[in-house]
Amino acid sequence: MLALAQEGQPLIEITPLSQLERLAQEAPGLAPDAAVNWQAQAELRTGSGTEPDVWLHLQAKTSVPLTCQRCMGVVATPLEVDQWYRFVATEDIAMAQDDDSEEDLLVMTPQFDLLAVLEDELLMALPLVPMHDECPVAPVLQVGEEEITDEVSEKPNPFALLAQLKKDKS
Ligand SMILES: [Zn+2]
Repeated sequence: MLALAQEGQPLIEITPLSQLERLAQEAPGLAPDAAVNWQAQAELRTGSGTEPDVWLHLQAKTSVPLTCQRCMGVVATPLEVDQWYRFVATEDIAMAQDDDSEEDLLVMTPQFDLLAVLEDELLMALPLVPMHDECPVAPVLQVGEEEITDEVSEKPNPFALLAQLKKDKS
């Protein structure tokens, strides 16, 4: 990572999504050629210490097939990552500085795994409830929703009843 920062050249890669196993598990029916385009650029910045800090800018773009929670069909969901990190020497420093830092902190380790960081970010970018903007089978479900709404509106509102009771007493 230090070498990457000293070179100043961005690392531009295309990684098959099948290599990101945790993400692939979230995306049933992932196309075999599905991939994530990503770019990592490191730079040195003067920090509080005597040595310059290593910063990393990670950007990624991809699309994964998720299960729509309304129609249970497949919904192609675009994912984007655009995140800055600052490297610190130890886990203790990361813990101590994390609350005060707007950027994310990463611990510099010899076997630093950039792909794992990328996968973490993509997993965090997943929507909690994947859904089509408009489901392909929307008409069927809309009928169901209308029925539910009608049932609710036919029931008397308990607060309105309470108000009516109070009125009658006074
Ligand atoms: Zn849907």
